[in-house]
Amino acid sequence: MSNAPLPPGSTIGILGGGQLGRMLAIAAARLGLKTHIYEPGTNPPAGDVAAAVTTASYDNEAALTRFAAAVDVVTFEFENVPASAAAALAAHAPVRPGYRALEVSQDRAKEKSFVESLSIAVAPWRAVGDPNDLKVALAEIGTPSILKTRRLGYDGKGQVRVTDARQAETAWEAIASAPAVLEGFVDFERELSVIGARGLSGEVVCYEPGENVHRDGILHSTAVPGAISRSVREDAVLLAGKILNALDYVGVMGIELFQTSGGLVVNEIAPRVHNSGHWTIEACVIDQFQQHIRAVAGWPLGDGSRHSDAVMTNLIGAEADDWTELAAECAGLHLYGKAETRPGRKMGHVTRISPRG
Ligand code: AMP
Repeated sequence: MSNAPLPPGSTIGILGGGQLGRMLAIAAARLGLKTHIYEPGTNPPAGDVAAAVTTASYDNEAALTRFAAAVDVVTFEFENVPASAAAALAAHAPVRPGYRALEVSQDRAKEKSFVESLSIAVAPWRAVGDPNDLKVALAEIGTPSILKTRRLGYDGKGQVRVTDARQAETAWEAIASAPAVLEGFVDFERELSVIGARGLSGEVVCYEPGENVHRDGILHSTAVPGAISRSVREDAVLLAGKILNALDYVGVMGIELFQTSGGLVVNEIAPRVHNSGHWTIEACVIDQFQQHIRAVAGWPLGDGSRHSDAVMTNLIGAEADDWTELAAECAGLHLYGKAETRPGRKMGHVTRISPRG
């Protein structure tokens, strides 16, 4: 398949129609590119701003084939696309980022082994397949620790904290006996993330790391530069470059990190644009969504430097009901157009910028 840049007027297929797909579609439109959303659910947020929408499940091979034949490149806004869907698509269109990135990030055990193979630290961990494994793992790793399902966990879902080895049975039941990893609890100083991009020709551009605050396992805010020291910023960016290159990655990736007294520890990698990169829309000339579209379309990557300090705050559940007050502020307000407000659901975000300090 050709590596020539896709000309304006080309169509980017996006698997998943949530807010990330919506912001990708807006970014693509700015560059004269069309988007076609593939999403199993009806009325996806991204559908409001895309040229076309296919409503079908991820195991519908005929629909996947038609979709791939109708677009010039396929990308995704979330990583839990079944590997079989990615394979069906790859027969008809380039899929960027590719299969390896999906495979690694869909499974916490594979992800941790991969990161360790690059001599980058992760929390102490053990794969757990049954209650007995869990008891052995708890004896080795100790408590407090966190039991996380290997697959399909996000925003703190599919995980349970274990504070006492005697909780093994209840913890195992709490994650519905799914294959899991037990992770030692990391005594971190702060959480940060780095958003990196890699283009088709291998160039890497990273955004400045942001300091993240989570509430109930869900991202609450990202501040840039936050209280992250210069040397930690450099370490985070170097680590991101190593991961992107090792996966021969094309597109934007979010890497969540813990800063500890012993250095940086990778929590999770997401092979897509990332909530903790939303601040780039207001604080950088080329934001993470533009960058991802450029990368998957084979365009040159843009400059990722920021011109302002920024704090991005998510609007979760009923927090978005304050939209009139938020709209009156001089701040970047984003509402995702979701019909139903639910507790814990990401309904929008707001980014407040100030002159670069
Ligand atoms: P995750 O879904 O794995 O990204 O976890 C969501 C949040 O839970 C993280 O951002 C942390 O705030 C917290 N967390 C997850 N794993 C650990 C860990 N091993 N040690 C300490 N905190 C953790």
